This record gives sequence, C-alpha cells and structure tokens, in this order.
Amino acid sequence: MNAIEIAASVRAGEVSAREVVEGYLATIDAGNGELNALLLVGEQAARAAADEVDAAVAAGNDPGPLAGVPVVLKDNLCQRGVVTTCGSRILEGWRPPYTATVVDAVTRAGGIPLGKANLDEFAMGSSTENSAFGPTRNPHDSTRVPGGSSGGSAACVAAKFAPLALGSDTGGSIRQPAALCGVVGVKPTYGRVSRYGLVAFASSLDQIGPFGASVTDAALLLDVISGHDRRDSTSIPETLTPVSPTLENGVAKLRVGVIDELTNGGGVALEVRAAVLAAAAALEAAGATIESVSLPSTQFGLSAYYMIAPAEASSNLARYDGVRYGLRVEGENLAAMNERTRDAGFGPEVKRRIMLGTYALSAGYYDAYYGRAQRVRTLITRDFNRVYEGCDVLLSPTSPTTAFKLGDRTADPMTMYQSDVCTIPTNLAGHPAMSVPWGTGADSMPVGVQILAPALAEATMFRVARVVEDAAP
Ligand code: GLN
Repeated sequence: MNAIEIAASVRAGEVSAREVVEGYLATIDAGNGELNALLLVGEQAARAAADEVDAAVAAGNDPGPLAGVPVVLKDNLCQRGVVTTCGSRILEGWRPPYTATVVDAVTRAGGIPLGKANLDEFAMGSSTENSAFGPTRNPHDSTRVPGGSSGGSAACVAAKFAPLALGSDTGGSIRQPAALCGVVGVKPTYGRVSRYGLVAFASSLDQIGPFGASVTDAALLLDVISGHDRRDSTSIPETLTPVSPTLENGVAKLRVGVIDELTNGGGVALEVRAAVLAAAAALEAAGATIESVSLPSTQFGLSAYYMIAPAEASSNLARYDGVRYGLRVEGENLAAMNERTRDAGFGPEVKRRIMLGTYALSAGYYDAYYGRAQRVRTLITRDFNRVYEGCDVLLSPTSPTTAFKLGDRTADPMTMYQSDVCTIPTNLAGHPAMSVPWGTGADSMPVGVQILAPALAEATMFRVARVVEDAAP
C-alpha cells in the first residue's frame, strides 16, 4: 500500500496502525543489516504512537491525513530524547532537548516516526559514504551507493522500510539520492518548511523535504510539513498553496524550458540526457510547450556553492567544542580539549569543509572568495528569474549519472562534488525542485528527471511531476 492508501484504510478502521507498523518493522528487520539505511529503529515509540492512532479511530476521532503512516527521519532531525548523530562521532550519544517542527507536524497528522536514517556526516557528501557509522547501500544493487547526503532516507523508501521519509537538501541531498534510488524527492522553496530542529549545515541553503514512492505520496507529506513557524525566522509568513488538490490538473498550455547547460553539459551521461528529452516530449504530448533555455551563470554554481556552504558550515560547526554536545576528549587546558575533541570527532570531509570555509571567511580573503561567491549567487538567481518570465517550469537531469559503485568517487573530492552540478543552482536561488524517476540506464539503475519551478510554485511543479510520472517507462 502507498501512503495515501494506508492513511485512508487506517482512518476507515479497515487496518490498524499497529498492523501497518509491525509490517514495516519486519521488513526493516530483514533488510537493514545489508543496507545500513537506518541508524536507529524506534520500535517501542512507533508501536506506542500507532496504538494512539488506533485509539483515536476507535473513539471516532480523525487522526489526520497521515493516519498510521510510518515516516523515516534523516538523522539530522531532532526528536526530544532520541539519540541524534548527524552521522558523526562528535554527537555520539547526544539526545536533543526539543523536537523539530516537521516531526511535530508529522505526529500531529497521525504519522508515525519510525527511525533515524543514515546520512553523510553533517549532510556533507553525495554518497552516504561519509557517515561515521558506515555507508548505506543502494537497494537496487548493494555494490552501489544510494547517493547522499540523505542516502538512508532514499534507500528506506526504495527498500519499502517506510512509505515516506524526510531528508534535507542543501545542494541536492534530497533530489540526487531520490534519483539514484528510483524514488520521488522534493526540495521545497527556501522558507516553505520550518528548519527548526534541523541540525544546521549551511543555513541559507538548507531545506527539509519529503521522499515518497510516488508524486502523490510526496505531495501528501509536503502539505503536512509546509507552513509558517515563528521559531524559524526565515520561514515564509504568507499562506501557502497546498500541492495535493491540483495534482491531476495536467500540463495543458504550460511552458516548459529544458536547461541547456545542465542537460547538454559535458559530464551528463547520454542515457540521462535521453531521459530528460523523453520526459520533455511526454509533456509536449500532454499539451505543454517545450523550448530550450540558457542559464549561463549556472556554470559557476558549483564553485560558488563550495565557498558559501563551507563558510556557513565553519560557523555552524563551531559549537561542537566538547563542552555542550556529545563527545569530549580531555586535554591539559580548554584549547587542547577543544582541539582534541574536534580532531577525534569530525571525519575528513567535515574537516576539509571547516578549513575551506574558515579560509574563505578570513580577513583579506573574505571579499575575494566569499564576497565573490555571493555575487555569483545573485547572478544565478537573476538568470532563473529571467528564464521564468517565459517558462512555468524547467527540466534538467537530477544527477549526471546513475548510481556509482561504492569507493568510485572517494579518492578525489572534486569528483564527488560534480555529482551535484545539476541540483546546486536551485539551492543558491532558493527555488523549489524535485526529482521524478524516469526508467533505468544501461546498468539497470534508476534515472531521475529534475523539475524546477519559481519560488512557491510547488503546485505547478507537482502537476508537471504527475504527468512525467505517468509517462515514465
Ligand atoms: N553533496 C552536497 C555537499 O556535499 C550537497 C549536500 C546537501 O545537500 N546536504 O555539500
């Protein structure tokens, strides 16, 4: 059953939330040993939450749109009292004193938080190989990565460990693993979903979003988590248009632009390019108009991102000092304790980003690096805004290639960074984008098509996604 069907059956009293949860727990039990997609399974809490939902149904109350639907949480989302690791040794054993707004929203809607999903340490990576607790494997082929950094969340949905999952996307961390695992993944408009209770990586880029096995399921979860939250000062105060009610409205007369630089760029595999063009043709057949569009500044997206994201990370990660969170390695004085703790607690990629970011922000270099990257960010946003004057949505690949083998891109950081070349520009602009599966490549691994839209145009983006999903091979 998909998430919509589970919720309908539980609300109607046809199946119990408890039965649903037991079914998923059994699947996890059988499969997580190999995939390492979940770092923690909250069996007792999930059973208790399911029993509450069933009690509400028995009492004639409506538990809400996610009634009895299990939802996996990326392990950088806080739940009061539940160990949260961010895939890092430095947080080992840390139990947050508060719960993320999105998790509260899921629970209030009758959803069941099922467990914490593996991720690249502090969400830095594209393969989930940077987790301190071992890599997650791709459910379609366990010699391959699931993508990252939300690789555990994507793998859980693909392996049917849960119908829905939440991830975070700073430069592609929801969309790229969705593409590599053959599921739907959505990065909402910056500010649509509250970041309260998401452990910060790069605060001006981070956004929480849903994974589902279908566009309709992802829409259900997006509508539950969207909305203003006064505990996140960047959360959008306006009333938002939900996406679910207009999902089936079709694409007649919509103007679709295919992004030339990202679709025909050097590193894009032929079969991935073919998938994007086939999806465009399907949209045309459904009544949309298609044109090729150019976003010249996107070629500098990766460079700008790897200044801005590490700069913000170096500041956000300064708080892990051995005093307030998790790990502490003693030293002869405070500075030595801080240094030893950070040296033992952070993995190599996180250290690289802290050093890059600290350098980019230092006096004398600030304007040359960080300042310049911010100006590039403005140019990219302007490119998008110009193109959106003539287009309702845009198309591109999500990932230049299908899922790669474990170990294939770990030798050189630049090779790994290239995995996000198609997803990063949207984060810099703050706009929404999502990945929808489109068949498989020659290696039988899933291919994802990316659909991009202007700020707060998620409803249009989802209509397009539904047509793409229906037409997909
Ligand atoms: N892979 C990109 C990075 O390592 C994006 C990560 C993300 O979106 N959290 O920064």
